[in-house]
Amino acid sequence: MMHFQVVIVGAGPVGGRLATELAASGISTLMLEEHAEIGRPFQCAGLVNPPAMDMVGLHETILQNVDGALIHSPTGIQVPVGSPGEIRTHVVCRKRFDQGVVRQAMEEGAHLWLLSKPLDATVVDDGVNLLVEREGEKIEISCSLLVGADGAHSWTRRHFKMGKPKEMMIGFQTDVTGLSGKENWLEMYTGRDVAPGLFAWVIPSGQGTHRIGVWARPQELEGRSVEQLYDALLSHPLWRERFTGMKEIARYCGPIPCGIVKKPFKDRVMLIGDAAGMAKPTTGGGIGPGFRQIELIASELINAIESEHLLAADLAIICNSYKAMRKEQDRARALRDLLVTLPADDELDNIFTMFNRPEILELINVKGDIEHPVPLGLTLLKRVPEFRKLALKAGIKILFA
Ligand SMILES: Cc1cc2nc3c(=O)[nH]c(=O)nc-3n(C[C@H](O)[C@H](O)[C@H](O)COP(=O)(O)OP(=O)(O)OC[C@H]3O[C@@H](n4cnc5c(N)ncnc54)[C@H](O)[C@@H]3O)c2cc1C
Repeated sequence: MMHFQVVIVGAGPVGGRLATELAASGISTLMLEEHAEIGRPFQCAGLVNPPAMDMVGLHETILQNVDGALIHSPTGIQVPVGSPGEIRTHVVCRKRFDQGVVRQAMEEGAHLWLLSKPLDATVVDDGVNLLVEREGEKIEISCSLLVGADGAHSWTRRHFKMGKPKEMMIGFQTDVTGLSGKENWLEMYTGRDVAPGLFAWVIPSGQGTHRIGVWARPQELEGRSVEQLYDALLSHPLWRERFTGMKEIARYCGPIPCGIVKKPFKDRVMLIGDAAGMAKPTTGGGIGPGFRQIELIASELINAIESEHLLAADLAIICNSYKAMRKEQDRARALRDLLVTLPADDELDNIFTMFNRPEILELINVKGDIEHPVPLGLTLLKRVPEFRKLALKAGIKILFA
């Protein structure tokens, strides 16, 4: 039976990133990818923040840089956040980005099996025995550690009954041509009609193309589909003129798991990335948090693999570092609920009116960090008298969560 120290199920960006770290330390690593090609199909707006991009240095995959966001209230109040020339985030070609990450892993010595997926996995005393389907053929292999990096509907998470992410949003997106807009700026749209509880987006993706999408929590859909929300955005009386004349060239839909599962590990098994519920409840971005997760655990995990300390108790110590991430996720979610998800449209408009004051905009631009929205949120709650009332509503839960 072929043996690898680590088998990673799923060669997406997060699985590829971990494989790079492990293989670079001489750990024999196999990535299993069920598709014939890396990075296809993808469901992503392609936003990768500068720290995550710097970790992999795949700047050649950038299609467009984004300096700011123009946020629209339900009745059309516009709040601009950002400054021209100051890059807030990158828009990448996800296919090339994922391929670049996985290529880096292979250059470090990791193996990749395409058209391959696990059919069964059993934890035994000294490892994990796997039955894998590889290009239609059944093969038995074994490993010391099995890592589930297999996305939102993770087979690994379900097979080992490792719980569920706190929230599972649904995203829908199209690629279009023929839309104009402020260069280097993305737009966000709010309101019960078009994006109940969250927001819709229009993102420039280079060479005259844009990505238009919307995401929502299932409980906010009230019988509608996310596709219907998208249609509602395009036909909304305030904005429909903006969307006339554009041409759709692709559409896709996918889940976004936000909320780290309670115990993303078992004896010799662990979850990373979307499989573990790493995406941010404020933006749905999963690449940055996934990379950060790898950064946090890599060196301890490598030591544990080398010394064969891979039982649940050992992995629990390694995953201790998620506590801070989980806490930040919980606080960000509470702030999101307070400022975006729970308010009715008229309350949202009031919040936008407050945001639009010059001193608040300045605060947002100085302190605002889309990656870490909590410090800005807390500052706003403390400094802006009107927000204090909201803070009281949210109470201690947010401030001391
Ligand atoms: C509409 C939409 C827009 C988004 N926009 C952004 C954005 O702009 N920025 C951002 O950071 N995030 C965004 N996300 C989230 C982002 O796509 C994910 O967080 C990110 O891809 C997670 O990476 P991952 O490697 O954990 O999982 P994935 O990218 O899902 O990779 C998992 C891999 O595992 C493979 N796989 C799955 N099951 C098996 C199996 N049983 N056997 C073998 N292989 C398997 C899959 O084929 C895939 O290649 C968006 C999501 C959606 C739905």
